[in-house]
Amino acid sequence: MKPKLSHKPRKRFGQNFLQDPFIIQKILEVVAPQPADKMVEIGPGLGALTKPLLSTIDHLDVIELDRDLASQLQVTWGHTHKLTIHTADALQFDFKTLMKSNTNTQKLRVIGNLPYNISTPLMFHLFKFCDLIEDMHFMLQKEVVERLIAKPNNKQYGRLSIMAQYYCLPQYLFTVEGEAFHPMPKVQSAFVRLTPHQPLPFPAHNLKILQTITRDAFNQRRKTLSNALKAHLKIEDFEQLGINPKLRPEVLSLSDFVQMSNYIHQHYPNKEI
Ligand code: SAM
Repeated sequence: MKPKLSHKPRKRFGQNFLQDPFIIQKILEVVAPQPADKMVEIGPGLGALTKPLLSTIDHLDVIELDRDLASQLQVTWGHTHKLTIHTADALQFDFKTLMKSNTNTQKLRVIGNLPYNISTPLMFHLFKFCDLIEDMHFMLQKEVVERLIAKPNNKQYGRLSIMAQYYCLPQYLFTVEGEAFHPMPKVQSAFVRLTPHQPLPFPAHNLKILQTITRDAFNQRRKTLSNALKAHLKIEDFEQLGINPKLRPEVLSLSDFVQMSNYIHQHYPNKEI
């Protein structure tokens, strides 16, 4: 089943439209939308998920960068008050604005078959709004989902795993083969749920430090910790922390990284990060 509208998929917008009704049904089952949910869809495209969502929920916000697709959605659903279309870049979108019309402080449920070319920066952008979000369900490159859920001592474990698990509990839901999309992506996909922690299990006193040390540690993942983080911590600091400086960054847990970050914040308060 090819998408019916005469839209030519645009590679630069990461357009791989879902066309498999079985997968769409599976997504709806795991997301389980409820009529009163405050749901927002990123990249509605031709409406493969938008349409079934609108048949269940009372109102849906969608964010679409491609103006042609946004106006097609307007033509199809503009007459109902159920859909609000934001013709915007999700990477720049201020999700707080969606809470304004939301008097009962109900949190957002975010969903999207994401454009794979921007999926990592988009998740980092969304993490900033985690306290407003109940859950997020995304179709992503399988390899990215494996990085989101990876634990220490795994070759997929890195900065994305640590920052995602800092904010959320990620759950791998199911694998999706290329045939489910038009055009077919070259890589396998997977559907993931990210549930923001309430409260954070390991709060960092200074997020920028945590982001910098995870970036530096995994930029040089074959180096020892003391080498990779020598700009931030001395050997005696590792002793104080009870962390072996000869270890490789990939064996450390999220809690170890937060502990190092909080130590730097406390002991080097004037350090430029
Ligand atoms: N949801 C549709 C589906 O499942 O068939 C389309 C998914 S397609 C993989 C990604 C969608 O995100 C496209 O509609 C694309 O135009 C849109 N998109 C790409 N970059 C975007 C951005 N920065 N902000 C918002 N939407 C974007």
